[in-house]
Amino acid sequence: MDLSERQELIVDIVKERGPITGENIADELNLTRATLRPDLAILTMAGFLDARPRVGYFYTGKTGSELLTDKIKKLSVRDHYSVPVVVNDQAHAYDAITTMFLEDVGTLFVVDQHGILVGVLSRKDLLRTSMGQQDLTEVPVHIIMTRLPKIKVCQKDDLLLDASIKLIENQIDALPVVQENERGLEVIGRLTKTNITKAFVGLVNQDRI
Ligand code: ADP
Repeated sequence: MDLSERQELIVDIVKERGPITGENIADELNLTRATLRPDLAILTMAGFLDARPRVGYFYTGKTGSELLTDKIKKLSVRDHYSVPVVVNDQAHAYDAITTMFLEDVGTLFVVDQHGILVGVLSRKDLLRTSMGQQDLTEVPVHIIMTRLPKIKVCQKDDLLLDASIKLIENQIDALPVVQENERGLEVIGRLTKTNITKAFVGLVNQDRI
């Protein structure tokens, strides 16, 4: 986040003299408290300064990049996943390809009749199958999918950062968001590289407000 010249000055004053009241900062800058209010609000919201009632403002000691890291570490899968796109484990490759086009996704999750995760199908899994001579309406998805226990999953309460690391380390595009129940892992969402890109852009937009 880029600070204005005046905001930089405020940070310097607070670094040197904090804790210091808004009134005293205003005096230092020959400005009124009202003029400074929006700057102080921005600096406090962005985490550069902290304010304690009856004490004043003090410097948090964090640099811009440390503050950004703090923000990234707070992002949770819960706020960023999408609805899952699934096919039944009885489906054929042809059904899966049709679903992938209709739903405009790159990864499908294969579930049993109870919505429990049994497999994952990516674009390349289906492309590979399409290159063979078989009739795609005859190829069951369960023979081409990646199956448990190989499937990497995440849960709503996981950190977005940990889920991102899983995607990178395993060189995959999506993780099913699951919730464990007595039958197995119920698929409740889909976390993709697009979700993570959007979260990243969201951080910048937040800063502009
Ligand atoms: P693409 O095939 O389009 O490159 P991916 O990189 O996501 O897509 O998939 C690569 C391989 O990893 C595929 O065989 C796919 O079945 C498998 N895969 C995809 N997602 C997962 C996952 N969450 N856990 C385990 N394997 C996965």
